[in-house]
Amino acid sequence: MIWLQDLKWPDVRAYLDAKDLILLPVGSTEQHGRHAPLGTDTLIATRLAEDAARRTSVLCAPPLALGWSPHHLVLPGTISVRAPVLQELLFDIVQSLSAHGFKHFIVVNGHRVTNVPWLQLAAQQAQSRLAVSVAIFDPAYMQKEIASELGFGALGHAEELETSQLMHLQPELVDLSQAVDSAAHGRRLYEVDPRFAVDTLCYVPSTLEQMKVVAAETGGSTGQPTRSDPELGRRLHEHLVNRLVEVIESTL
Ligand SMILES: [Zn+2]
Repeated sequence: MIWLQDLKWPDVRAYLDAKDLILLPVGSTEQHGRHAPLGTDTLIATRLAEDAARRTSVLCAPPLALGWSPHHLVLPGTISVRAPVLQELLFDIVQSLSAHGFKHFIVVNGHRVTNVPWLQLAAQQAQSRLAVSVAIFDPAYMQKEIASELGFGALGHAEELETSQLMHLQPELVDLSQAVDSAAHGRRLYEVDPRFAVDTLCYVPSTLEQMKVVAAETGGSTGQPTRSDPELGRRLHEHLVNRLVEVIESTL
């Protein structure tokens, strides 16, 4: 059993007799272009957590399918929760679980980069007030080596990185015939992808005006989603699972 919500409370007590670590998958519900589903980030976080948990026999908390997505509200279906609300929500989840004896938390974030600020604030809040450790695992930071090796372009949105991973994990949810590529919106000294060793300003979510342009040009994606490939997605996913297993084993 991997998922907390599938267990009965005596099972949780028995788990806590042996281990005090739990994974917390966090994603978003936001538009991912015409070719990928709104649940892309949550699905990726869920599968990363599930596959790493299976290899290490640790538990996962129920996935949090909501994230901070103010810039994606330009297209239908997106749900954006205010970052301070998410920070408090995550703190409450950690506080509840820590009261039962969980001490080590690894957040697995599918909503790359954008969820990180409030995750960091919640992690700091939890570590300073509760006797816990909270690590944040974000693919954008953990795929730097493999992304270049596999020839992927820059981190965008619903680009070839997450679309390839999704085509490996759940191909029936992707309609690549609807994918539209776009050239990087070059802004001097601005780059979202943390893997490029160049001088940059810090990431700030796009404005609604900027996103309206993206929506009109590509249907909501940025990057080169037509280059997506399930085999590259499999290698990317396995790299990320291996890294997550490393983090879990070094925490146990
Ligand atoms: Zn995404």
